[in-house]
Amino acid sequence: MNYVFAPPPTVSAPVTGTAARFAVHRIYCVGSNYLAHAQEMGRTGREPPVFFMKPADALLPVEAGETGVMPYPSLTANLHYEVELVVAIGVGGRDIEPARSLDHVFGYAVGLDMTRRDLQAEMKKRSAPWCIGKAFDHAAPLGPITPRGQAGAIEGAEIALRVEGVERQRSRIDQMIWSVPEILAHLSAAWTLTPGDLIFTGTPAGVGPVARGERMEGTCSGLETLRVQVS
Ligand code: MN
Repeated sequence: MNYVFAPPPTVSAPVTGTAARFAVHRIYCVGSNYLAHAQEMGRTGREPPVFFMKPADALLPVEAGETGVMPYPSLTANLHYEVELVVAIGVGGRDIEPARSLDHVFGYAVGLDMTRRDLQAEMKKRSAPWCIGKAFDHAAPLGPITPRGQAGAIEGAEIALRVEGVERQRSRIDQMIWSVPEILAHLSAAWTLTPGDLIFTGTPAGVGPVARGERMEGTCSGLETLRVQVS
């Protein structure tokens, strides 16, 4: 194939226990998926799921044991962290039944749905899309993906975020409004899931700002820790 310019490189994330990489296709995100966070954002938590996307090349993959560096983004004075369980799709499909949905999951990782909250709030006020608040460069830091069989029972896992060593978010995956099987069912009714898709499944309560120079540490039991410093 002949291109008028060199095609962009394939975006990929590390996988625990192998040198082979997870090639990323799309990044889907679920809006407010924990009751306490839905309430802190002014909703009841009983609304149907909200999905949005980030471009695949917004991914900031962080290798095991390393600290990723995220440049402070332009246009914002209120960059927020949102720690999230990320589902990595290994087998594609559409209209996936919740009972069979885990067959489609390659593995799990800890991710950060970084948000220009001031711009997102402005877009919400105008009933306009959130892209400028959510889908900017480096907006999706991601730790290594742990294959499903090695991750243990993710439903009971604890998820947490520390900023500069101080705990800011903590919850359990079973506190999600929409479980992983339910998310996969809803998402695959709207889009055909493809190997390489990543799904950020929503953040617990406690979101807040992060400043230049600050270090974030996202954890989820059974998964690799994600460390990111804002520069
Ligand atoms: Mn989020």
